[in-house]
Formats: sequence, structure tokens, C-alpha cells
Amino acid sequence: MWKRIPKEKSIPPTIGKYSDWKPLLAVEGYHQCLYCTISESSFGGIRNFHVEHYRPKGIPRFSHLENDYSNLYYACAICNTFKSDDWPDDPDEMLTKACYPDPSKVDYALLFGVDGITGLATGKNLTGIYLSNKLYLNRAQLIIERRSRIAKKRYEELINIIIEQKKVLFNLAKSGNKNALILLENLDQKLSQVEAIFHLKDSTNPYNSNQTKKLTS
Ligand SMILES: [Zn+2]
Repeated sequence: MWKRIPKEKSIPPTIGKYSDWKPLLAVEGYHQCLYCTISESSFGGIRNFHVEHYRPKGIPRFSHLENDYSNLYYACAICNTFKSDDWPDDPDEMLTKACYPDPSKVDYALLFGVDGITGLATGKNLTGIYLSNKLYLNRAQLIIERRSRIAKKRYEELINIIIEQKKVLFNLAKSGNKNALILLENLDQKLSQVEAIFHLKDSTNPYNSNQTKKLTS
């Protein structure tokens, strides 16, 4: 999820211009969008990510920062477009006003929380509320991504519980308990069902609208 970007660890390049430095910024930014945290792998790779001018280069007093590495970050094309030249106020670390806190100083996890069931992001403070609205951090794709992560976590927890129960039943069955053997078989069936349901999320069937019509008719 959200992370502070450790600019102090990076060595700024001495040649080229900002567009040349996207691969470096990708590594520094954990290969995910600074604002919405969607990863390269979930969003079509580096081509769909932009070099983000934190202090917008379109604002005259920041135009000299166009190729200043300390002003550059890695953001998805959607967040970067929503942000554009938005700069409501100079930042501070109080998080009590509409502004973009310095991502190398402030961990954006302090700005946003995610509901553990719905996957909706909420601002934890005035700065977080402003940014989540401005950058549309509850757009459909982001909610799906978060719900998928929540489902994976729950799935892993459930599988671990079932494995522990199987161990107990296995020991009982070994000592001759016939009920334990039946329960063990039931548990194996349940495990198969849980796995099948979980992996349905990756299915593309039905693949097109004609197949959908056939299934629903
Ligand atoms: Zn984004």
C-alpha cells in the first residue's frame, strides 16, 4: 500500500532529462503509483505510468524544477492526469489542509485508510480527504484491486485454519476414531470447494457477451 519514497537513498542522474529517468523512478517508487498504489503489473506495465512532477512544472514558479530529480516521482497515468497542475497550497506535515505533502518526508499511509470489507479508501485527515476526492481514489479498478487483496488474505487465513483442523483430525483418525475419518474427508471436499471458488476470480469465462446470453437464457 502507501509508502514514503526514500529519496535520500537515490543517486540523482547527471545526464539526460526527466523522461529518461522513468525506470529509475520506478525502482525508487516500488513499481507502484505514488498516489493510488496500483502496481505496474496490475496496470499494464511501465508504459502506463508517468513521471510525476510533484511541484507541477506547469506552474511558473516551479517550471525550473522540470528536470530536478528531487521533484520527480512515479505515478499511474490516471492519477497523474487527475492531479495535473493542482497545487492548492504549499505543503506542511500537519495534514490539516488541502495540499500535497512531500512524499519523501510524509508516509502517505498517514493520509489514507482502507475499509477491510468494502475496499473503499477514506481520508484520515483533511489532507487525505482532499487528495482522495481530487485523485478519485475510489475509482472502480482500485476498489477491485483492494477487494482482491482482501479476498486473498482471507483465503490464506481460511486455508491455514483448515490445515490445522486436518492435523487434529488426522491424529484422531490414526488412533482409530472413525468419525474423525469421515470429518477429514468432508474437510477435504470443503477445501477443494474453497479453492475452486477463490480461483474463479481469475476466470474469463464467459469470454464475450454472446456466451453470457447463452448462460443466462
Ligand atoms: Zn495512481
